[in-house]
Amino acid sequence: DTGFTRIDGNKEAKSIRDEIKIEVSRMDASIHVVPGLAVILVGDRQDSASYVSKKKKACESAGIKSVDVCLPEDSSEEDVLKYILSFNEDPSIHGILVQLPLPSHLNEHNILKAINPKKDVDGFHPQNMGLLAMRGREPDFVPCTPKGCIELLHRYNVEVEGKRAVVIGRSNIVGMPVAHLLQNEDATVTTIHSKTKNPEEIAREADILIAAAGQPNMVRGSWIKPGAVVIDVGINHIEDPSAPRGRRLVGDVCYQEACKVASAITPVPGGVGPMTIAMLLSNTLTSAKRIHEFE
Ligand code: NDP
Repeated sequence: DTGFTRIDGNKEAKSIRDEIKIEVSRMDASIHVVPGLAVILVGDRQDSASYVSKKKKACESAGIKSVDVCLPEDSSEEDVLKYILSFNEDPSIHGILVQLPLPSHLNEHNILKAINPKKDVDGFHPQNMGLLAMRGREPDFVPCTPKGCIELLHRYNVEVEGKRAVVIGRSNIVGMPVAHLLQNEDATVTTIHSKTKNPEEIAREADILIAAAGQPNMVRGSWIKPGAVVIDVGINHIEDPSAPRGRRLVGDVCYQEACKVASAITPVPGGVGPMTIAMLLSNTLTSAKRIHEFE
C-alpha cells in the first residue's frame, strides 16, 4: 500500500470541539454549571496575544466561560500570584492557564507551581509533570500539545505499542511530555536534541517521528523511514516575499519531501495546532466534571 495520508488536525479538532459543546450544554442543563477557564497573559508578545485570543474564541464557541487577565510586561511575581491564588479559590473557574513564555524577570517555576494542580489544565505544574514521568501513576492533566499529537495517532489508528518513536526536541511543553506519553503507550522512544550527534540517522529509525524543534524545514525527506508516520509540531514563520504578509508559516518538516516518503503526516498549519486548542477545552471540561462529580 503506497497510499499517503494527510492527517487532518482541523477536522479532528472540530469533531472533538463539537462533542465538547454537547457535553457542556448537557452539564449546564443538568447541574447548572458551565466549565470556566482563566487565562493569564503577562506582557505584549504578539504571538502570545494571538494564541490567547484563539483560546478565548474556542471557549466561547463551546459554551465554556473564559476569563482573561492581561498584565503589563513589568508585572511582579506577586502581581501574577495574586490572580492565580484568587482563581484557585474561585468555584466558577475549573482551569487556570498562564500563557508562556513569561517575561524573563519572572520565575516560571514559582508561578506554575502556585496553580492548584486540580485546575492545571496545561499540565505544567511540577506535580503533574512528575506524575506523567512515573510508572503506574496518572497526572490530573496532560499538556495539550503532546496530548493532541497522541490523539491524532489514535484517531488515525496508528499502532504505537512496540514501535520505534523518535521525538526531536526535549522542551517541558512539547518534547519531554510527548516522549513520556509515547513510552507510556509502549513505544520505544529516543529523544533528539541540539547536542545529538547524527540526528538524521536516528530519525530514520523511527516508525513514528515527532518533530518539535522549532527549526523550519529541518526534517528532510532523507530523515524519514519509508512508511513512517510524521507529526510536525513546529510553528515557524519564514520570510516569503510572494506571501501576502511577506511571511509564511512552516513546520519543522519539509512537507514536500516528507509526503513522498512518509505514510502519513500532519500539515502546518492544520495539523497539531488546532488539536492543541481542542485538548485545552477537553481538559477544562474534564476538570469541571471532576470537581462537580458530573458523569
Ligand atoms: P523550544 O525552543 O523550547 O525547544 C526546542 C527543542 O528542540 C529543544 O529541546 C532543543 O534542544 C531542540 N532543538 C532545537 N534545535 C535543534 C536542532 N537543530 N537539532 C536538534 N534539536 C534541536 O521549543 P518548544 O518545544 O516550545 O516548541 C517547539 C516547536 O513547536 C516550535 O516551533 C513551537 O512554535 C511549536 N509549538 C507548537 C505548538 C502547537 O500547538 N502546534 C505548541 C507549542 C509549540 P536543546 O534542549 O538541546 O536546546
